[in-house]
Amino acid sequence: MNVLGIETTCDETAAAIVAVEEDGRAVIRSNEVLSQIAEHAAYGGVVPEIAARAHVEVLDRLVARALDTASLRLADLDGIAVAAGPGLIGGVLVGLVTGKTLALVARKPLVAVNHLEAHALTARLTDGLAFPYLLLLASGGHTQLVAVKGVGDYVRLGGTIDDAIGEAFDKVAKLLGLGYPGGPEVERAAESGDPERFALPRPMLGRREPNFSLSGLKTALRIEAERIAPLTNQDVADLCAGFQAAVVDVVVDRVRVALRDFGGVAGHPTALVAAGGVAANGALRRALTHQAGEAGLPLVAPPLPLCGDNGAMIAWAGIERLRLGLTDDITAPARPRWPFAQARSDAQSPAA
Ligand code: ATP
Ligand code: FE
Ligand code: MG
Repeated sequence: MNVLGIETTCDETAAAIVAVEEDGRAVIRSNEVLSQIAEHAAYGGVVPEIAARAHVEVLDRLVARALDTASLRLADLDGIAVAAGPGLIGGVLVGLVTGKTLALVARKPLVAVNHLEAHALTARLTDGLAFPYLLLLASGGHTQLVAVKGVGDYVRLGGTIDDAIGEAFDKVAKLLGLGYPGGPEVERAAESGDPERFALPRPMLGRREPNFSLSGLKTALRIEAERIAPLTNQDVADLCAGFQAAVVDVVVDRVRVALRDFGGVAGHPTALVAAGGVAANGALRRALTHQAGEAGLPLVAPPLPLCGDNGAMIAWAGIERLRLGLTDDITAPARPRWPFAQARSDAQSPAA
């Protein structure tokens, strides 16, 4: 089975082919990603109109290249999966119209994939993980702790009440004059910093619900930065190290609470999974590996190229759905907002 995956929901244009071999092994046969970072860098964030135009300009070439690299033609495919949201409407439409057109022309099944569900299922592509598992999904637009019980069966245990973690990294980077996207820049600067020089808060620590709040931490950092301005390189490094350490402490504490809640919602987890662009952070990975180990669980985090937005995760989510006979047709809508997990209150516990 060979499935094409198309991703255009944010600032990466991506196309990939994932195959499932006769023996059941999943193989990524191509994974083409074109980042628009350069186009948006001057604005310190993603500009929706620029993003949509950039997707239009490169997507057809990228799909052709994904097929070429995999030595396949359109006719060889068993399905076409495309991210139909959530994300920026212009970009989503570019990908969705392309996917629908290819599916119609080649007479192939179409799967309209939820981008967040694709992040959530990536651990099954890379590690063949069995359900259920605890997912920490942390990206530029989302921060959630989710019990992944099956394909299409997700219970949200908690999430951020303000900024997403990746967003907080991006804002801190901008504030300190570092580049965009901020996550990798802050992580790099933090390497030569002292995490204990500034006493930054750990919002939500110890709270009973596994929720996050990042905006107070970001504000505390801004106040410190303004107090000691102008900043030397060492100041920036220390602020980054302090911020990253605070985020890691908060995440570990929130995951601890989510692990405690998990049993009542989904039974015993097979693993702790970290997904989304923030899962690329080394300090966070190390802390979560240690924490998962103490809970007797493996930490499963996708290899770096599969942490951020990519086409392989969309193709894989398509395969998961196709196997269950779940397909879509030409009427599938673009969904800029599209929650993928149900609230816990809808599922069982009164504590939402
Ligand atoms: P969505 O939220 O819809 O999935 P997105 O494009 O923001 O969209 P990703 O591409 O998964 O999501 O992640 C990008 C985010 O991850 C950015 O905010 C970026 O700063 C953050 N990020 C990337 N690398 C690191 C890192 N090493 N440390 C911390 N954050 C990182
Ligand atoms: Fe994403
Ligand atoms: Mg992105």
